[in-house]
Amino acid sequence: MDHRGDKYRDLGIKLTPQRIAILDYLEGNRSHPSAEDVYRAVMQTFPTMSFATVYNTLQTLKRCGMVAELTGDPEKKRFDPNPRPHHHLICTNCRKIVDVHVTYRLPVADHDRAGFDITGNHIEFLGTCPACKKRKYT
Ligand SMILES: [Zn+2]
Ligand SMILES: [Zn+2]
Repeated sequence: MDHRGDKYRDLGIKLTPQRIAILDYLEGNRSHPSAEDVYRAVMQTFPTMSFATVYNTLQTLKRCGMVAELTGDPEKKRFDPNPRPHHHLICTNCRKIVDVHVTYRLPVADHDRAGFDITGNHIEFLGTCPACKKRKYT
């Protein structure tokens, strides 16, 4: 019996070996990969998998709430398999994305809230990562 798909059974999506490979790659992945990154990694195991399959699977996982789509990189969407609400540090030079697990309580005054009930926030801190800083100053 194949137990590999068991942990994903509750997702309510059809689990093909390709989808399981994508889920396995994403699990615990902190690099916030783009669809291209996922495609390159999963291709090692499934050389015949198309980019469209990877892309569509990521969209399906997004609809299930399994991955979040990050918009901080204007050139390509990045995906985040970490379901806990968190914030991001984004290097404006190399586009590295790092998680920030801090809860910020940011008050939004009534007159700025446009009638919204606020349920969460997502902050993107822009800056220069240590590797880029090193390249720049040494
Ligand atoms: Zn950088
Ligand atoms: Zn993240």
